[in-house]
Formats: sequence, C-alpha cells, structure tokens
Amino acid sequence: KKITIAIDGFSSTGKSTLAKQVAAHLGYAYVDSGAMYRAITLYAMENGFISPTHFDKQGLIKNLPDIKLDFRFNPDAGFAEMYINGQNAEKKIRTLEVSSLVSHVAEVSEVRAKLVEQQQHMGENKGVVMDGRDIGTVVFPNAELKLFMTASPETRAQRRYDELTQKGEAVTYEAVLKNVQDRDYIDSNREDSPLIQAVDAIVIDNSTLSRQEQFELVLGLATE
Ligand code: C5P
Repeated sequence: KKITIAIDGFSSTGKSTLAKQVAAHLGYAYVDSGAMYRAITLYAMENGFISPTHFDKQGLIKNLPDIKLDFRFNPDAGFAEMYINGQNAEKKIRTLEVSSLVSHVAEVSEVRAKLVEQQQHMGENKGVVMDGRDIGTVVFPNAELKLFMTASPETRAQRRYDELTQKGEAVTYEAVLKNVQDRDYIDSNREDSPLIQAVDAIVIDNSTLSRQEQFELVLGLATE
C-alpha cells in the first residue's frame, strides 16, 4: 500500500535531503512545499508587491489567480523543478533575498489556502513524501507517517551557508544565521497554520543522527 509521508520542521534541518532519498527509494513522488511559497514570493518581488521595505498584500492577493505553479521533473537534476507561469524558477527561488521575504508571504491566509489545496491534489493516495511546515497538521492530517525534524540553529545555518556559497552566492554566515532565526520565529508565531509538531509526529534530530541513520529509521517506519 502506498502511504503519505509528511516531513515538517524548521528551515535547513535536512528535510528535503531525507525526503528526496526516501521518495527515490520507495518510488514515491517528492514534493517540496517550501518551493511553492518561495515561488509566490519571487512573483511578488518581480511584480513590485514586496520588497524589504514594503508589502502590498492586497495587490498580491488580487493577483494570486494569475500565478500558475507547477513542478516539472528534470532527469539530469533527478528532481522536479519549480515553474512559475511556464518559466523555470528553480534557481531564482533559492536566493537569500527570497528566503528573507518568504515567511511574510507565507503568513497570508489567501496564499496558504491556494497552496494547501494544490498540495492536497498532488498527494492523495499516490505515494508521496512532502516536506514543509504544516504538512502533518494541515495538508495531510491523516498521513500514515509524520516526522518532525529539528537541529540546532547553528547546525542549520552552517548547512544553508554551505549550500548558498557552493552556488556562488555572496553571503555571510551571520546573515544566514539571522535569516534562519527570523524565519523560525515568524513561522512559529503566525496566526494561520503556525509551525507546530503534530501530536503523532516522530521527532528526528539531525544534529545527533547521521544522514544514513535517518534514512534507515524512516524507511523502517515507512515499511512497518
Ligand atoms: O522549506 P523552505 O525553507 O524552502 O520554506 C521556505 C518558507 O516557506 C518557510 O520559512 C515558511 O515561511 C514557508 N513555508 C510554509 N509552509 C510550508 C512550507 C514552507 O509556511 N508548508
């Protein structure tokens, strides 16, 4: 039987690495729900609805029906990339600039409603691993397996810093750490679907378990 696996937790806890590995092994689809919030944020930036100094929420809300998001599998990359209105946005959504604005966009209920509906359609009874903040609580409250990933802010900032600098982005560790902490705060304290651990989630601490140990643990739980 194909199940639904929900992986939630703070940013840069290794959710997507684990989710991709588990999905590939089980022959399931992997869906990065954060990419969808990032895509809406990029659209909002490029169309003048948000900047570090202003946020025209109503303008963005009015334009939501015009934003078509889809994932298209890239065989060379081995995962699905994010497209906004037919344009590949995979690289552009991963910058620190998008990261610094995305939590504000993710606070908007209309944005969440649009994305949650789309996410629910992508996953029903198809065998899916989805990672995000509200997957086990809101998107798939009946998921057969729910995981909640944690790690210290420093471990997470170092991960994110390494990723960004490998891609050639000029960032400082301090700026990345601040972004990680700011997003933790906003994601945990927003009114609509705050980041909380589902009561039936199993906690995985990425600072104490190796990647291989996490993978084996989850595979064991998924095939139980
Ligand atoms: O997972 P990632 O770090 O790419 O997510 C970016 C941001 O999108 C998060 O910090 C959060 O504000 C938002 N998000 C969310 N709900 C999800 C996934 C992401 O609010 N399910």
